[in-house]
Amino acid sequence: MSEFTQLNPAERILMGPGPSTVPARVLKALGSPTMGHLDPDYIEIMDECCGMLRRVFRTTNALTFPVSATGMAGMEAIASNLVERGDEVIVCINGVFGGRMKDIMERCGATVHTVEAEWGDVISGEALGEALESHPKSRLVTIVHAETSTGVHQPLEEVSRMVHDAGMLLVVDAVTSLGGHPVNVDDWEIDAIFSGTQKCLSCPPGLSPVSFSERALEVMDARQSKVQSWYFDVSMLRDYYSGSGARAYHHTAPINMVYGLREGLAMVLEEGLEERFERHRVVHERLRGGLEELGISYIPESSLHTLNCVRIPDGVEDGPVRSRLLREYSIEIGAGLGPFAGKAWRIGLMGHAATRRNVDLLLAALGEVME
Ligand SMILES: *Cc1c(COP(=O)(O)O)cnc(C)c1O
Repeated sequence: MSEFTQLNPAERILMGPGPSTVPARVLKALGSPTMGHLDPDYIEIMDECCGMLRRVFRTTNALTFPVSATGMAGMEAIASNLVERGDEVIVCINGVFGGRMKDIMERCGATVHTVEAEWGDVISGEALGEALESHPKSRLVTIVHAETSTGVHQPLEEVSRMVHDAGMLLVVDAVTSLGGHPVNVDDWEIDAIFSGTQKCLSCPPGLSPVSFSERALEVMDARQSKVQSWYFDVSMLRDYYSGSGARAYHHTAPINMVYGLREGLAMVLEEGLEERFERHRVVHERLRGGLEELGISYIPESSLHTLNCVRIPDGVEDGPVRSRLLREYSIEIGAGLGPFAGKAWRIGLMGHAATRRNVDLLLAALGEVME
């Protein structure tokens, strides 16, 4: 007899800020036989996966692939490839993830100018316009499409026009929007974008889909200095992910994770992007109606469907409610971050978990637990 009992994790209903619930079909794909990462059969699967990513990102960008680590790695890969020491950049901050981008940009040696908004607000065109005017030598602007710390849904079309009129690149964090809200990389002329697998794509954490425009590739090709990060140096990764000839070894691709992503993307595309966005909208509206009946209001004016950031009602204790939801109902919701700690809950309705069943179960459980 082994001293180790069999691993037996509980089946949670994941309605927090991520990870979200992973469907059995994806879990099964993860358990498929591991191949070599240069095996032509695997390369075919990987190419197919990148093609599916292009469809979900709505882009024809040749350089579209999953970075081998979680969402933060996509952020770091984009920053380290597009920025050289001494470059000026503009970073929009209205929550945790904009703040992280600033930190990473500074570590890459950039001089960062920030455009800030209150937590819960969108970045205004006015504030962005002022920054573009004050810092015209900036190379790029970064913005968070779906700020998971506040639930804010940032519109991008006007932002894109302004950034390109100023001759800069547009970098977007779409970790909590891809697969739940429209992300139109080509139409919105996004130059570099990253996401994560464990939010609305309904895969386990571990990969960060990214896509680079031709304009971004030109900026990378014109670099004077080597990319400081070896692992994320896109000039080396390019041959493996978008080469047509020999695929050279850089690092061992996370084969089984790519199987899982391929399956998750197949489910997204089989459902249909528009149908999927509509499903997220409908369950969000249902949750909103039910929460309002319980006396719980939304914090952001422009709320994501995929992440619902709501005020904890007066007299209700944060920790005990969340831990009872977890223990008694096996439901996970998220705590507030930063200034929202103890004041907000973050309820995810992402991908496979964005269902009427989950909404109704959570509403019933919350009603019970808050009494
Ligand atoms: C989750 C998240 C990230 C980071 O992704 P990890 O997978 O945790 O590394 C980045 N940006 C946003 C908006 C996120 O929600």
